[in-house]
Amino acid sequence: MEVCVLGSGSKGNSIYVSGGGTSLLVDAGLSSRELTARLHKAGLEPQSLQGILLTHDHEDHYKGVEVFSRKYALPLFANEGTASGVEARHPGVALQWQIFETASVFEIGGLRVEAFTVPHDAADPVGFVFDDGVSRLCVVTDLGQATPLVCAKLARCHAAIVESNHDYDMLMQSDRPWSLKTRIAGRSGHLSNDDAAALMSTTIPGQMHTLWLAHLSEACNTPALALNTMRQALAKAGRADVRVEVLSQSQISTRLTF
Ligand SMILES: [Zn+2]
Ligand SMILES: [Zn+2]
Repeated sequence: MEVCVLGSGSKGNSIYVSGGGTSLLVDAGLSSRELTARLHKAGLEPQSLQGILLTHDHEDHYKGVEVFSRKYALPLFANEGTASGVEARHPGVALQWQIFETASVFEIGGLRVEAFTVPHDAADPVGFVFDDGVSRLCVVTDLGQATPLVCAKLARCHAAIVESNHDYDMLMQSDRPWSLKTRIAGRSGHLSNDDAAALMSTTIPGQMHTLWLAHLSEACNTPALALNTMRQALAKAGRADVRVEVLSQSQISTRLTF
């Protein structure tokens, strides 16, 4: 499997996943032009893609989807709730939907995809597990809390992209309105650094070798804080061997092959 994160954060998310001869984007939350530019920067061509999967109907996950999917004639894979939410923002545009059930397993070419529910304040948000027959990747961002289902999905994977959104104290000390603070920190909001560290240090499976920290808040987190919180928790759990990297809003990640 090959993975490259094109961007991660509240200003736009998109992940390139390729395996079993199939290449996809998970979310298209950057402009179409930016998606193309970042794919090129990674040495990838938009024409090599077979589709776009959407996690949920928040704009930082679908902003470029209409223009990009029409330009490259790509089908959009989403559940009914997400498709309806995105359609509502693009009235009169015929998007090419492939609807999946939230708790289901399906194949897109040679990639097996598991969609599973996550607690987040969108219509019907999901995380994904990708399996190319050799290795498995879990993508789970935009969730307010780790559920037993999330733990079970992570436990089967070799690499994971997991949200580490905010430092709780920085969030509470920020000048954001109280309603927004409670939304972000709430059960349908976003995982904090401590939440992510607690989740991974208790559930990380023996075979997992790489962990990417995603969706960092620019105002209420720093890459060093997120990284140190996770590394310390993993070291305490006896897993200092795991490669941990922080994803960026403005830069593409390295290209991970596993
Ligand atoms: Zn988001
Ligand atoms: Zn969201």
